[in-house]
Amino acid sequence: MIYLDHAATTPVPQAVADTMYEVLRNQYANPSAQYKAGDDMRKQVAQWRETVAAALDCPPERLFFTSCGTEGDVWAIRSACWRNRRLGRHIVTTAVEHNAVLETLQWMRQDGYDVTYIQPRADGSIDADKVLSAVRPDTALVSVMLVNNELGNRYPAEDIAQRLRDKNPDTLFHTDAVQGFLKVPFSARTSGADFVAVSAHKIGGPKGIGALYIAERVANPRPLLPGGGQESGFRSGTEATAQIAGFAKAVELRAAVLADTLAHIADIRAYAVEKLSAIPDMTIISPNRDAAPHILSIALSGWPSQNIVNDLSAQDICVSAGSACHKGKLSHVVKALNLPPRTQKSVIRLSFGPETSRADIDICADALRRHHDERFPML
Ligand code: PLP
Repeated sequence: MIYLDHAATTPVPQAVADTMYEVLRNQYANPSAQYKAGDDMRKQVAQWRETVAAALDCPPERLFFTSCGTEGDVWAIRSACWRNRRLGRHIVTTAVEHNAVLETLQWMRQDGYDVTYIQPRADGSIDADKVLSAVRPDTALVSVMLVNNELGNRYPAEDIAQRLRDKNPDTLFHTDAVQGFLKVPFSARTSGADFVAVSAHKIGGPKGIGALYIAERVANPRPLLPGGGQESGFRSGTEATAQIAGFAKAVELRAAVLADTLAHIADIRAYAVEKLSAIPDMTIISPNRDAAPHILSIALSGWPSQNIVNDLSAQDICVSAGSACHKGKLSHVVKALNLPPRTQKSVIRLSFGPETSRADIDICADALRRHHDERFPML
């Protein structure tokens, strides 16, 4: 299989699977248990938390494990709005956030919140000035992602967070860093963000585990899950120890060779741009600068994206039509770019990981060229 969908999810390295297996089989005590095996697990969880917190550059006591990136986004938004409930009922975000954010904001609208959506520029980038000028005295929350999951653009989250403190110090700032974590330089501590959501399965960790950083100044966030008091009382539920162990192992593996891995992925992306640009009717949608290295959106203008995905899938090549989360529907991100209609309906996303080789790109480029030469355009 040629797997070019690392922005959707990533393969788990053997060492991560081994670590998880060991925890499942041999270190299965509940970290809340009062005997030695429980104590040991508590210490282990603390250590794993330190590993993930170090990669995000935040104090471990401000990092809370969640079940996924979606949960982090939902928790951040609900928690920020609750904390600022007396400040106002206005939220600023972008029109190109992941649905985990957009759908949560839909809930907030049903609860009476007014949401301002900042449109991207034609290249998918976000203007920090536009975001800040939409902020009002009653803005409870600003939520802007770190890296766009369909296009790869890196958004000016830190700039917005820091200038927001000057403009409206009480307004809280959340960034969905699910696609940016260990892909672009980022420090939760110095970013000025109040909430940062990440997810393990985008970096070689298992599915079903993520984390949310909550800044010191938020102090006691509204508990997401009341109950047994785990995660400092803010997110109850017995710790998913094997998942947490796998998350920490994946972070450890990535962090140890991060510069080399990112250089490799950037090289693959540059090679893909060069190879694909030679195919007639091909448009490269993702920007060349201010972007994460692992995502490349392209369009074979005139050839519907779902047909391309199906044709490539029949040859055991995995790519996605826009975001994997949209299941064939024209995505809100692609719509926001104002591309010509033929191009809009032809967008596909390739995304790369440490395992991707130039040979994978050659095979994919050949398949795309054949698709172009042998199928009639339908748009
Ligand atoms: N945010 C972004 C930007 C994403 O790309 C994704 C997943 O694709 C999510 C949130 C959701 O993460 P998870 O699958 O861990 O819930």
